[in-house]
Amino acid sequence: VERSFVLLKPDAVRRGLVGAVLARFEAKGLRIVALELRHVTGELADQHYAEHVDRDFYPPLRKFVTSGPSVALIVEGDQAIEVVRALNGATDGRKAAPGTIRGDYSLSNRENLVHGSDSPESAAREIALWFPDLG
Ligand code: ATP
Repeated sequence: VERSFVLLKPDAVRRGLVGAVLARFEAKGLRIVALELRHVTGELADQHYAEHVDRDFYPPLRKFVTSGPSVALIVEGDQAIEVVRALNGATDGRKAAPGTIRGDYSLSNRENLVHGSDSPESAAREIALWFPDLG
């Protein structure tokens, strides 16, 4: 089994979509092994998005991700990392396929509801960062 770190970003909480999004992961067969409501600080955002901090889109992304509570979780299952990314859909909600979380619920390339680790290395890094007791 594999673990992936998932973040339901502030737009998911604000729009009342936490239950709907979690239901998709659960229905797929992924098991939730940790879950916490977290108000992300600028410092945590900078660490989480370390590879993006110098990009033009980062300042508004930082503002967005710190704008209200998020739900941080770890899911576990066979090929969890790839499965989560398939369920999430393409980064840009306007282009994401219908049937995916972003494709069904997002019309934005920034406010795209959900983050999922993109490799085993990022999953390990992100789990250690967000859930140091479980790392
Ligand atoms: P995530 O890492 O959140 O699962 P991703 O891997 O699909 O998403 P990345 O390229 O890693 O996308 O970008 C991280 C996040 O930065 C995106 O989810 C989105 O919120 C934001 N982002 C990426 N590209 C842009 C952009 N061009 N304009 C605005 N926001 C962007």
